[in-house]
Amino acid sequence: SEEEVEALQTTAMLLAELLAVSRPESGDDGLAATLPRRFGGAALASGIVLGPAVMPSSGRVPTRVLADDPDVELKRLNTAWENMQRGIEQLISDHMPRSSGKKAADANASREILDAYRLVAGDAGWIKRVAEVIRSGLCAEAAVSRVAGELRDRMRRISDPYLRERLADLEDMAGRLLASLDGGGAHEAAPGAILLARRLGPAELLDWHARGIAGVVIEEGSPSGHAAILARALGLVAIGGARGVVDSAMPGDEVVIDADDGHVFLRPAQELKIGYLHAITARSVRQAGFASLRDKPAITRDGTRVQLMLNVGLAMELGQIATTGADGIGLFRTEIAMLAKGAVVDTPEQAAVYAKVIDMAGSRPVLFRTLDLGGDKLLPGAPQPEEENPAMGWRSLRIGLDRPALLRRQLRALLLAASGRPLSIMFPMVATVAEFRAAKALLMAEVARVRPMPAELRVGTMLEIPALMWQLPALLREVDFVSVGTNDLLQFLFAADRGTPMLAGRYDMLSPPVLDLLDELQGKCSAANVPLSVCGESASRPLEAMVIVGLGIHSLSMPATSLLPLKAMFADLDLPALRAYLAALRRNSGGVASLREPIAAWAKEHGLKF
Ligand code: PEP
Ligand code: MG
Repeated sequence: SEEEVEALQTTAMLLAELLAVSRPESGDDGLAATLPRRFGGAALASGIVLGPAVMPSSGRVPTRVLADDPDVELKRLNTAWENMQRGIEQLISDHMPRSSGKKAADANASREILDAYRLVAGDAGWIKRVAEVIRSGLCAEAAVSRVAGELRDRMRRISDPYLRERLADLEDMAGRLLASLDGGGAHEAAPGAILLARRLGPAELLDWHARGIAGVVIEEGSPSGHAAILARALGLVAIGGARGVVDSAMPGDEVVIDADDGHVFLRPAQELKIGYLHAITARSVRQAGFASLRDKPAITRDGTRVQLMLNVGLAMELGQIATTGADGIGLFRTEIAMLAKGAVVDTPEQAAVYAKVIDMAGSRPVLFRTLDLGGDKLLPGAPQPEEENPAMGWRSLRIGLDRPALLRRQLRALLLAASGRPLSIMFPMVATVAEFRAAKALLMAEVARVRPMPAELRVGTMLEIPALMWQLPALLREVDFVSVGTNDLLQFLFAADRGTPMLAGRYDMLSPPVLDLLDELQGKCSAANVPLSVCGESASRPLEAMVIVGLGIHSLSMPATSLLPLKAMFADLDLPALRAYLAALRRNSGGVASLREPIAAWAKEHGLKF
């Protein structure tokens, strides 16, 4: 009616005025929830991508809001609530403090966590409020969403960081209730979508990747965390540290990730979106230019050959050897297949995967790394040890040496896969020469059993734990090669958790202690005639890769997306000039936290394009 039209026009006018004066940054709800937003973050995997948002716990958008029959809705709610309670009981029991021998501070912290859970789980008002909202006419899903929103606001006002952490658990619980209303919630496909998550484990990321996402924004993800490494391996564009993005977005909102510039745009304005669509096209043209380098060897301008290898972990990534013209596989992360499957893979199945890797690599070398599970790489259902510092805990080779059955089965699978061909195996997280010897002894026990023997067996170590630096004379007598895992090495060198975004920019690989370490390592390896490579993420970043090569380490292993751009960069690099510059710079760098700026300036002056 005319009257309604007039009322709507007046409302629209008022809204327009409010919109004009409101600052989008000032809140997440109401009007702001429809406006464009920009978030800063750190690149986890480079690239630009555009797509609709999906969120782990709120992926299900209620398709209806109003209830046809409140009694039916209340019954549905009760069943779903009971199912969810069981899940919460499990969560709480997992977080129960061990009663004996716990320090008071720990017990307090645990109690605080449980208190936070109680805000949601033990709060009789929560279910009552949902029921009330249903009685007022909303369907169960819409009622849960509304009450979860109220609780979210309450939790947000808590200043204690420990308790605020529990916000994610609240999201989880609301999501769980929505999922159980949905009958358990089968995973829907999300082709081309951008996943927005607070935290993300590697297995969860693999699950989303299988559903077809194109990019991921993790509020609490840092570049050397395993989710980031996986994102790069899977060719996803990813950004971390974009705080607040999850609360500000609705499923289906348009999202642009510009990982190269460290931005996430939510509901981008039309002009911005068009600009990015152009940029995406331009990038693919540039990539096509790199493709012409595929069959050329990586050589610096002065003629030094650099070996560029791939870090992979899934059979589906093997095609990257052909698309990049890589010199081989410098790091095959064997645990990834298990994380993807969500279970330990038996020996014949492992042997089949490894054989396929060796087949695909042809005459190029493959460095198989034995299982590196634990820390943040946990198999679903695996007992989660209660550890204060999982990254420094019972993980990786330590598990392999203490419970050798799994490691021995894997070593057998590798030998079976090689089936008389050359084989290279390296052990992760080696802290002492004795550990390397023990691991090699397990391998040799399998070598004695498996026929045919590999034509050549090379056994190496990763260097991830600084203590190895002071065991080099003994170590280098026993190993066939060394590969530096800078992700773990840097976290242990600087005592800085690789998964904590707040620490991501605090310590630099391009700093005097790291350069001194690599320099010393290179000198000793080359004197002992032991091949040395770098396979941590540093090797994939242009400036870092340039410096590593400048220090005389001529073998790098990296995710496929970095390989051709690095080949292009090396073709422009005057290595003797860089070596001279680095030597002079390091002589005068006492007490400097980072050499990144002068090195970047040198690279720019010398026409290197990154
Ligand atoms: C490393 O630590 O640098 C490494 C290559 O191993 P991961 O990242 O798998 O721990
Ligand atoms: Mg490591």
